[in-house]
Amino acid sequence: MALDYSLSYAQSLDLSDSLKSYRDQFIFPQHNGKDIYYFTGNSLGLQPRKAQQYILEELEDWGKYGVEGHFQSRRNWFGYHHFLTDKAAKIVGAKTEEVAVMNTLSVNLNLLLVSFYRPHGKRTKIMMEAAAFPSDHYAVQQQVKFHELDPSQHIILLQPRDGEHCIRTEDILAQIEDNKDELALLMLGGVNYYTGQLFDLETITKKAHEVGAIAGYDLAHAAGNIVLKLHEWNVDFACWCSYKYLNSGPGGVASIFVHEKHGNNPDLPRFAGWWGNEEKDRFLMKSEFIPAKGASGWQQSNAQIFSMAAHLASLEIFEQAGIENLRTKSEQMTGYLENLLKEIPQIKIITPSNPKYRGCQLSLIALDKPKELFKFLQDNGIITDWREPDVIRVAPVPMYNRFEDCWILAESIKEFYS
Ligand SMILES: *Cc1c(COP(=O)(O)O)cnc(C)c1O
Repeated sequence: MALDYSLSYAQSLDLSDSLKSYRDQFIFPQHNGKDIYYFTGNSLGLQPRKAQQYILEELEDWGKYGVEGHFQSRRNWFGYHHFLTDKAAKIVGAKTEEVAVMNTLSVNLNLLLVSFYRPHGKRTKIMMEAAAFPSDHYAVQQQVKFHELDPSQHIILLQPRDGEHCIRTEDILAQIEDNKDELALLMLGGVNYYTGQLFDLETITKKAHEVGAIAGYDLAHAAGNIVLKLHEWNVDFACWCSYKYLNSGPGGVASIFVHEKHGNNPDLPRFAGWWGNEEKDRFLMKSEFIPAKGASGWQQSNAQIFSMAAHLASLEIFEQAGIENLRTKSEQMTGYLENLLKEIPQIKIITPSNPKYRGCQLSLIALDKPKELFKFLQDNGIITDWREPDVIRVAPVPMYNRFEDCWILAESIKEFYS
């Protein structure tokens, strides 16, 4: 069927969108008195209206109860993280015990590498993307050094083929096979932050296990964006932040996943703090550490209440909307935007076209005057993001973006080049 390029068609898609009302639950920055066209939910999600209420309630309870708030506040602080766990677990396809909401992403990645990078004998190597997010590179390099090994010898970097932007699954599988006796750990970003490529996590995990390696993922750009089945896929560990697709505010509390097959193994080496100790003994102040069962055993510090309050507001909306429903809309909306952009000769999309290999984000290379285009969009109330050296990322987020937003974006790019 030929695509209808009219505004009225975009509006008709919005009208029949069963998730359209969720937009009203978010606060939009204003541009010339109108809601901004926001395409950067992959970088910092918008504020749920409820976040302010939930944070204010905690401030009120702190004022009212002081330290007694640990047990007397309306959502007791002692167990606050428990209000989040089941909701967070649903988003990534995990059992509740396999998830802990704690700390921030880079910290958690380091903590998980302590437990899951265990070089021994010949099996010492970590495989990751050459174009991974900087934190991932730094964490992996330092972890290798921590074991007194040389990063240049023990990190395998996955590259796309010449002239390509994304890494083929078959090439990843072949590299795993080629390193089958030496691979200790495979650690990828679930969705690459730069290209928007979604890796076939199920297939890759299976292959890593087949050669005897551990498979873990940084899901910063995957959580809340795609349907994940971490438990079923047998993923060993994962971590993600809450402020991108999960809309929980700048620097917000992050989460980890530890598969149940590892979660109840007290012998796994780990760094520890009192909040990771078994809950019933926590306030007995013993010096002996007995890790709580499941992912909770990796917790370090007492709950970050204000940040968790914002996260709770957002997770409640995800629970109502349902990640599968969001993903269905997302595939449709990103496909629609892709079709509109394909009409513009100056725009090249480097994100895979197959929905199986992408989330909602499209990464664009503007072949003519890229920085000027980025600025032009910004001046017209359309927020995208620029990533060096030459990519403009646009993420139509199913929770609050409209088909009409996609139409406006494409029309504005056309206008810039006309
Ligand atoms: C956004 C992002 C981070 C950011 O880490 P913080 O500790 O939350 O600052 C790390 N890794 C990846 C892959 C990211 O996309």
